[in-house]
Amino acid sequence: MKKEVLYIVVPCYNEEEVLHETNKRLLSKIDDLITKNIISNKSKIMYVNDGSKDKTWDIILELHNKNKKVTGVCLSRNRGHQNALLAGLFTAKKSADIVISMDADLQDDINAIDEMIQKYHDGSEIVYGVRSSRKKDTFFKRFTAQSFYKFMKLMGVDVIYNHADYRLTTKKVLDNLEKFNEVNLFLRGIFPIIGYKHDVVYYERSERFAGKSKYPLKKMLNFAWDGITSFSVKPIRLILSIGILTCILSFTTIVTLIVLDLIFLDLSKWVYIILSIWLSLGIQLFAIGIVGEYVGKTYIETKSRPRFIISRNLEEE
Ligand code: UDP
Ligand code: MG
Repeated sequence: MKKEVLYIVVPCYNEEEVLHETNKRLLSKIDDLITKNIISNKSKIMYVNDGSKDKTWDIILELHNKNKKVTGVCLSRNRGHQNALLAGLFTAKKSADIVISMDADLQDDINAIDEMIQKYHDGSEIVYGVRSSRKKDTFFKRFTAQSFYKFMKLMGVDVIYNHADYRLTTKKVLDNLEKFNEVNLFLRGIFPIIGYKHDVVYYERSERFAGKSKYPLKKMLNFAWDGITSFSVKPIRLILSIGILTCILSFTTIVTLIVLDLIFLDLSKWVYIILSIWLSLGIQLFAIGIVGEYVGKTYIETKSRPRFIISRNLEEE
């Protein structure tokens, strides 16, 4: 029986501290799977250098020269985790039957790979790695990340709870992913849309064994904001509801004040004018801001810029 070629895609941004160790562990995993006859011996690890400023790419080259099971792609500059991941997935699918994406810091348990492949053999086209606990994350990371998933659900975006970008996908799924032309591609929201039979594998998320997180608060907020605005029109509807509610409230308040004023209160007429001016100004600015966000997104999408430019591809050398 033909064995599937597996590619493990790892986006790397300034990961010189972890790469050697990560590579050692991933290689032994791949070798183990090959010996057990689970995957083809053409399987590889593919690192994507996302415009790192340290020695990341030099290390990738060194690892590639030592072992041809290691390959790499170098982006022309830093484009962020999601784009680096895309570059890797699309390059890998040219040679692979199945692709697993994971972070360079091995916070995601690599032993879940066996179970992922098992689920693939059971017929799933996408297998999501889901964190069963986040005990090892800092309180801040845990809190922000979990609020993010809950908020996304509230906004009507279909995401798998506590799933990051540790997942197995088949070539077929990736071929379909390529049909999504939007530039702001929020992968965690796209895969559920692609469909096909999917399954979930649970694992414990551990700490980063070296180096610092490459996702500071600013990047996390950008990521969350992108996710929500590229998928959901709920914010607009929310504004609409707030608008209607405020109109009703202010209208009844003003009517009540007029009636009370006629009977016994002696309010200055300026109160009404100022009240209504501020109210309508606030509502308008708020609404314009939200509409502007969507207009901005449309603008960026119409330009259809390439999501990444590969400056060097070891697969083709
Ligand atoms: N990463 C990347 N480009 C970036 C930021 C991060 O390719 O601009 C990679 C990083 O090297 C790592 C993965 O994305 O492999 C996840 O980053 P990190 O582990 O720092 O995020 P955290 O686990 O703290 O959310
Ligand atoms: Mg990490």
